[in-house]
Amino acid sequence: YLELQGIRKRFGSANVLDEVNLQIREGELVTLLGPSGCGKSTMLRCIAGLSDIDGGRILLDGKDIANLPPRSREIGMVFQAYALFPNLTVSQNIEYGLKMRGVDKAARKSRSEELLAIVELTDKRDAYPQQLSGGQQQRVALARSLAVRPKVLLLDEPLSALDAQIRKNLRSEIRAIQRQFNMTTIFVTHDQEEALTLSDRVCLMNKGRIVQEGAPEAIYTKPRTEFVARFMGSYN
Ligand code: ATP
Ligand code: MG
Repeated sequence: YLELQGIRKRFGSANVLDEVNLQIREGELVTLLGPSGCGKSTMLRCIAGLSDIDGGRILLDGKDIANLPPRSREIGMVFQAYALFPNLTVSQNIEYGLKMRGVDKAARKSRSEELLAIVELTDKRDAYPQQLSGGQQQRVALARSLAVRPKVLLLDEPLSALDAQIRKNLRSEIRAIQRQFNMTTIFVTHDQEEALTLSDRVCLMNKGRIVQEGAPEAIYTKPRTEFVARFMGSYN
């Protein structure tokens, strides 16, 4: 399980993360929702180790990982704009992290073939990213982050660049893969409907704090504040 205890992050004088506490069970999918600028991406970046925290603890299976370099954290991250390596093929992109960790070629190949089958891109293994659609690129990004078998998967609006139908399909695909791997997952989205349909639990953030968390139905039907009610569309 993943546990955030009193995470603080400042940029200049702004408290971008203000004592964030959150516990996520193994295999749970939590969506993180909230207005632009509330600190969602910053939170994921801090968990992944791409940004240092100014206070608090990040525990993974009870061990504080806050001072470990990103590569040692066993955390995979997929960004909004699928930052694939443009000069590497699909297979090479998926195998990249394994190669960096010194995994031999045969093992890399078998792992990437397994993941290509899961994201249904086996026939694209030798294509380059620019030869793929947006949805396909995002599936490669997902396969790449799963290749190193992370304990935790962080998805920062992975679907927001895609059109509605592809978005819906990929959303259920991600959910299926997440269940299959029993992957502890934080999924950031702008989309209330996406959060309500996808997740085990919804966390709504505002101004660097988690203002309400709970099961999707609960947060929708029992908003604790005006802000939550408006944001979740509970009045509709
Ligand atoms: P969005 O939904 O638009 O992606 P977000 O919730 O992901 O928003 P963050 O990217 O986490 O928001 O940003 C939170 C706040 O921190 C914003 O006010 C942003 O301007 C500020 N911020 C983020 N990164 C930096 C940085 N490197 N330097 C200074 N301020 C930053
Ligand atoms: Mg963001």
